[in-house]
Amino acid sequence: MSKEDAWNWIIENESHVVEISDRIWELAELGLQEFKSSALLADTLEENGFVVERGIAGMPTAFMATYGSGHPIIGIMGEYDALPGLSQKAIPQKESLVEGAPGHGCGHNIHGTSGLAAAISVRIAMEKNSIAGTIRFFGCPAEENYSGKVFMVRDGFFDDVDVALSHHPGWFNFAGVGSCLAVNSVKFHFHGVASHAAASPDRGRSALDAVELMNIGANFMREHVVQEARIHYVVEKGGQQPNVVPPYARVWYYVRAPERDQVEKLYEWLLRIADGADLMARTTHDVEFLEGSYNMLPNKALSDIVTTNMKEMGTPEYTKDEMKFAREISKTIPREDKMAGLRQTKRPGWEKLMDILLDQSIPDPWDEGIVTPGSTDVADVSWVTPTMEFTTATNAIGVPLHSWQSVAMNGMSIGHKSLIFAAKTIAGTALDLLTKPELLKKVRDEFKERKGDRIYTSPIPEEVKPPLEVAREAAESSR
Ligand SMILES: [Zn+2]
Repeated sequence: MSKEDAWNWIIENESHVVEISDRIWELAELGLQEFKSSALLADTLEENGFVVERGIAGMPTAFMATYGSGHPIIGIMGEYDALPGLSQKAIPQKESLVEGAPGHGCGHNIHGTSGLAAAISVRIAMEKNSIAGTIRFFGCPAEENYSGKVFMVRDGFFDDVDVALSHHPGWFNFAGVGSCLAVNSVKFHFHGVASHAAASPDRGRSALDAVELMNIGANFMREHVVQEARIHYVVEKGGQQPNVVPPYARVWYYVRAPERDQVEKLYEWLLRIADGADLMARTTHDVEFLEGSYNMLPNKALSDIVTTNMKEMGTPEYTKDEMKFAREISKTIPREDKMAGLRQTKRPGWEKLMDILLDQSIPDPWDEGIVTPGSTDVADVSWVTPTMEFTTATNAIGVPLHSWQSVAMNGMSIGHKSLIFAAKTIAGTALDLLTKPELLKKVRDEFKERKGDRIYTSPIPEEVKPPLEVAREAAESSR
């Protein structure tokens, strides 16, 4: 059976696969700077018979690796960017690997590698069983900060893909059908006139005043937005010292809402508020659009295939040492935080999980209609092809993503087991879709039905390019 061929390849190559994940974990490269991590994945795919196109969609660390030809085309996405300041050893106590350096607090070392292992194993199974179609691995940079996939979608790289699969480390073995928030990330640069703040304030125009007035406007706006909207900002530049009227100030905003059109409306309003701030402070401003992404279009048929594959294999077993590790980590998470986190998942019976360290169940999706208050560029892919990003239990329940605890677990054997389980799940799902046309049809029909007559328009304006320079500077200052 073709699935056995794929799964056997993953089992036989387990140590090599884990080595790749650990290497990316150690490298911990930030978004658009993942030169070594992406090369490691791309080279490995090339060595395993894939044709690799590097530096796609204007990003040197994005790539596409293809095996086979014709439809169905099954896409597998892999991420590999890390987060600043999270360096941590694979131990259950807080201790950085390299002081102040980035770390894999979202488990994208596993994300990239589970997809890679799945892609290669499917290729082996396709060859052995003469299965027609294409398997395509997408090397997706900068999920965390610059929405790499949105640029790839904008440039048409997913247009001919029949289904896109993706895996993310998490608490549960779970193929959800919920959504997430659409977002715009935008910087406002205000320009005033410098002057002596005591001797000649009448001749100055404060860019900082404009920022403050804009923020006041935005904070009043809050009362009249949809309940689930999120608006947050940081003042990046507010002047240099009090006796100089600040000639330049900058504020960086995120605007999020459950549907893309809601974000567009809030964003239009925010633009007007910035204009209003100019009127009051007699300043001018420029808008710098950084990134935007959609809400997720879920797919229940795809979720069912993933869940069935997980159940076919059963979840990993853990050793005594692994349970001890999870227990040590859990002790560092306040019980009320674990409760808040579990409650937020809205998983039925979540109360029963309060005393569970690692989830070994495979729940059916419960989250139809639920919107997670975060955003991901995977969502943009979901509007051009049926998409599923499922999770596997990688972190102890209660461990927040983007934390040192998560970094520790993503670099040790519990993380490795979740990686192998995920790789097999992706491979099984991809092979089901390649060999059972009725399943693929069901998935694609649901996609068409959910999308309806809505048209995907890239949230990123045409003239906006991947912020390579911004990324380079961010990486330099994070060292
Ligand atoms: Zn992530």
